[in-house]
Amino acid sequence: MTELIKFTAAETAAAISKGEVSAVEVAQAHLDRITAVDKKVNAFLHVDTEGALKAARSVDDKRARGEELGPLAGVPLALKDVFTTKGIPTTCGSKMLEGWIPPYDATLTSRLKDAGVVILGKTNMDEFAMGSSTENSAYGPTGNPWDLTRIPGGSGGGSAAALAAYEAPLAIGTDTGGSIRQPGAVTGTVGVKPTYGAVSRYGLVAFSSSLDQGGPCARTVLDAALLHEAIAGYDPLDSTSIDAPVPAVVEAAKMRDIRGMRVGVVKEFAGEGYQAGVMQRFNESVELLRELGAEVVEVSCPSFTLALPAYYLIAPSECSSNLARFDAMRYGLRVGDDGSRSAEQVTALTREAGFGPEVKRRIMLGTYALSSGYYDAYYGSAQKVRTLISRDFDAAFAGVDVLVSPTTPTTAFPIGERADDPMAMYLADLCTIPSNLAGNAAMSLPCGLAPEDNLPVGLQIIAPAMADDRLYRVGGAVEAALNDKWGHSLLEEAPAL
Ligand code: GLN
Repeated sequence: MTELIKFTAAETAAAISKGEVSAVEVAQAHLDRITAVDKKVNAFLHVDTEGALKAARSVDDKRARGEELGPLAGVPLALKDVFTTKGIPTTCGSKMLEGWIPPYDATLTSRLKDAGVVILGKTNMDEFAMGSSTENSAYGPTGNPWDLTRIPGGSGGGSAAALAAYEAPLAIGTDTGGSIRQPGAVTGTVGVKPTYGAVSRYGLVAFSSSLDQGGPCARTVLDAALLHEAIAGYDPLDSTSIDAPVPAVVEAAKMRDIRGMRVGVVKEFAGEGYQAGVMQRFNESVELLRELGAEVVEVSCPSFTLALPAYYLIAPSECSSNLARFDAMRYGLRVGDDGSRSAEQVTALTREAGFGPEVKRRIMLGTYALSSGYYDAYYGSAQKVRTLISRDFDAAFAGVDVLVSPTTPTTAFPIGERADDPMAMYLADLCTIPSNLAGNAAMSLPCGLAPEDNLPVGLQIIAPAMADDRLYRVGGAVEAALNDKWGHSLLEEAPAL
């Protein structure tokens, strides 16, 4: 049984399709694991035992009838609690949506179900995906399985922790400024932010609509690719969905050959604030890319230094508008509705009680930045910076196939360390945010442990929009070479829970 939780998604699906194990056995092994460790980890906000077993049974029935199973049929998955799930609570880590049961599935949710993926439950996250540590969840922080006193990253810390704790072989995250890649980096797992528009946002509760992107989280590059193919593709229900074929990411993950590829090292992602051990592992990865036959050059993207301030105007502006829908009339929490108060008073009391401090801070920042007297000075300027960042990417990709950088400046920090210092918290996304502003694709994968604290370091690979396959080609080759060198995968070095 314990063996089953260590399988990759690809191995699990193969074992189920060959009849070596049933989907129900696989689901049960993961549900047992959740029961055993999740009190400590707190990766899940809701575990859907019944639904998971039912989905698994239907995969087993399908197989018994001799029907063909998809490449992920019967594989368990942990779903970030920001995607709607029909009949299953969806809270976005907020008190505001406590007890809300969506009447519909997100497109991503229904694609997973159609693929025979077994959804185990919903994972913890920073409230409405705002944060880098999962400490902003209204339901308590998630622990990093490498060291439970440290953060698992955020906002999708629950999804990343579920993978590292072997509670699920696959998970889904959303990346608005780094919330798939940064949790991946600090937990020693793989996380991919697909090209903006590649994965439907229909049923993804909006934080910042022009930046939000759902994507795969896994323990291996191939598993991430299999999940990517299952969730990506055109959706008429999302007006920003890209109507084009999904790049061949699974094929790319299997290539393991990067000879002749041109790789750019982003000069601006180094220096003050970058932990020595992070830079050491990053530099070794660059050396490895050379050994594998890539041509490595240094690239300068001067506007990237302005990405963080631009993001912290654009994301709050969009969030202040998106979160206006939580008015106590439509969903979830309603406070003070005793017949003596006006609708406006009930809305105000509910928003006061339902939103946490970080969400309130961003709504205020965004409302201010969008107000008539300041719109041009703040929001308008930030949009101009966004254009400059896209141009820096265009210039860089004219000369190289992918860019690389550390995913995060530091390894996982202790829970509580940055809780009262928003600026320090925001710096965790220094290297990830440019790709959200430009809409291109990026991956984080483990590249070693920082010698000073023995915690995972992430290598970020960045590709042009709709060239997501390049991430998997480079990521697959690097992962294979590192596993060869170590004799096992990095996660094997995590202390047992
Ligand atoms: N940490 C960033 C923020 O707080 C990114 C969050 C995200 O990607 N959802 O906005």
